[in-house]
Amino acid sequence: MPAKKKPAPLHPDLSEVLLTEAQIMRRVKSIAGEIKAVYGDGEFTIIALINGAVMFTADLMREIDNPVRLDCIRVSSYGTKTKSIGTPQIIHSLTLDIAKRHVLLIDDILDTGKTLKLVCDLVRELKPASLRTCVLLDKKARREVAMEADFVGFDIPNKFVVGYGLDFAERYRNLRGIGVLRPDRQNAGAWATG
Ligand code: 5GP
Ligand code: MG
Repeated sequence: MPAKKKPAPLHPDLSEVLLTEAQIMRRVKSIAGEIKAVYGDGEFTIIALINGAVMFTADLMREIDNPVRLDCIRVSSYGTKTKSIGTPQIIHSLTLDIAKRHVLLIDDILDTGKTLKLVCDLVRELKPASLRTCVLLDKKARREVAMEADFVGFDIPNKFVVGYGLDFAERYRNLRGIGVLRPDRQNAGAWATG
């Protein structure tokens, strides 16, 4: 009998794989079920926080058969650092009118909570009929402001992760799974010099 083929590692710059593509896809399907149970067949407006939530939003939306509208908000990112610094800022806001609409805010990861809080405050000012939040990952250990998401994919440990939309200096977003970035790759330009 031929030896079982070992799965290809996600990327050489990762020290550990936290979530495989199959695990993510299974959980995305079940979150879609949780969302459906809350919204029924009704229409809602998805607001994705870009760029990080693009993959998650694209996959989740396709598991939901409700009538949905989509808009995006861009919030200032880490740049090339792996720790949140200062206050996040909204760089590009909504184009759709969300007054009296049911809104589901989607982000890749809930960390200190500052980003989601900032965006929730902005959305609430626009008087939606309801506001709920959904994140793929939750790093509870790092929370600095009181913020919990209504739908959470996975609780993860306090480690800097990349893949499936999450980046370091704009790299690794296209990995199909999620893993921990090797410490020696966690400084700007490390990859540029090899
Ligand atoms: P917060 O404002 O909750 O501290 O941070 C949320 C944002 O920080 C997320 O939208 C994400 O862009 C970024 N972030 C937080 N933790 C990580 C991480 O482990 N990896 C990556 N790539 N981004 C993270
Ligand atoms: Mg983000």
